[in-house]
Amino acid sequence: MPLDCLFCRIIAGEIPATIVYRDNELTAIRDINPAAPTHLLVLPNRHIDSISDAQARDQALLGALLLAGARLAQQAGLDGGYRLVINTGADAGQSVHHLHLHILGGRAMRWPPG
Ligand code: 5GP
Ligand code: ZN
Repeated sequence: MPLDCLFCRIIAGEIPATIVYRDNELTAIRDINPAAPTHLLVLPNRHIDSISDAQARDQALLGALLLAGARLAQQAGLDGGYRLVINTGADAGQSVHHLHLHILGGRAMRWPPG
């Protein structure tokens, strides 16, 4: 685990966060600066820099990540719809370099995103 990785430190319990789901592979937390009424982040417990760094061996983990996103959105009552987002790299504004899935919902969203 990179010692300077914020999300690794949250997963390890070294930095506090509101954890809404946890299993052997994944941790889901509330985003500290929500961009929508519901804004959750699903993190693989094992550090991967970005989706671009995922390998074939991560296939099941990535499936679990998406399924957790859908399930948590349903549990949050986002019946009107929601968005699952993986920002990747500088142009997309990825600011934490530990792969994470955003779950955004609770308001209407525009397309294309900014
Ligand atoms: P990115 O821009 O990398 O796709 O998303 C990183 C997200 O992490 C942002 O939405 C940001 O608000 C969130 N974030 C940054 N620092 C913290 C923190 O210390 N705790 C939590 N819960 N979320 C954070
Ligand atoms: Zn990490």
